Amino acid sequence: MPVALVTGSSRGIGRAIARQYAADGCDVVLNYNTSERTAEAAVDEVEAATDSEVVAIQANVGDPVAATDLVDEAVDAFGGLDHVVNNAAINEHVYTPDLSPDAFANVLNVNVTGAFTVTKAALPHLQDSAATPGPSVVNVASRLAFDGAAYECHYAASKAAVVGLTRSHAREFAPEIRVNCVAPGYVETDMTDATNDAEDKRERRELIPVGRLGQPEDVAEAAAYLRDAGYVTGETLQVNGGQLMR
Ligand code: NAP
Repeated sequence: MPVALVTGSSRGIGRAIARQYAADGCDVVLNYNTSERTAEAAVDEVEAATDSEVVAIQANVGDPVAATDLVDEAVDAFGGLDHVVNNAAINEHVYTPDLSPDAFANVLNVNVTGAFTVTKAALPHLQDSAATPGPSVVNVASRLAFDGAAYECHYAASKAAVVGLTRSHAREFAPEIRVNCVAPGYVETDMTDATNDAEDKRERRELIPVGRLGQPEDVAEAAAYLRDAGYVTGETLQVNGGQLMR
């Protein structure tokens, strides 16, 4: 069975991607930073719904040593690694005059350096993969990489960097490894619940041509497509219900 590592997968979009990859026949390594009980529940949920083996490993992907150890432990758990999804990220709404350089750098560190470090550590294992149609990396960016966002300059900058990282790694690791990106629009998860009330959500829904807010499963389906799309690399797939068309 192919093996997939999905960072930041105790909750939200990462959890849905883990569930999707398991349903598609991958053994899955979940990852979380602080939410151990939620991650344990995610393991139980995915194992109950699929025939896959699932483990959860704690690691802060913003810590290069921990991120590298995460990959090593994933390989130890299943004997190899075929697919990586760099999904873990953080965000908070802050007015730029109130945003310290350290807080700015912390978001860049988790969201970009974390993806870089995990992919770097995974590279030799992906190069050994016999997966069909080849090993893959899927990075998770955001619509805000292209549209920007008031009060989220650090987050939007980090997601634009993820798009650049994707294209660079797609060129560098070709032809053996395909590297792609999904750019979700507004998706209902803890991340958006933390900053948006019911009225915010109603207003956002009106901006979305398909007429509903995104769900984690919408992004998971796109990630699975990119995992299996043998002639697609360096691409960023917008999953935003038509809110941003490019
Ligand atoms: P979420 O609900 O906040 O979940 C974040 C996940 O990442 C959790 O499992 C969390 O685990 C983990 N995580 C956070 N910091 C970590 C770290 N330093 N190391 C390892 N794991 C860490 O987020 P989400 O809404 O599902 O977002 C998932 C991805 O989609 C992110 O890349 C986000 O930027 C992107 N995205 C989301 C939206 C949206 O509207 N929700 C839109 C565009 C893009 P712990 O609880 O243990 O920290």
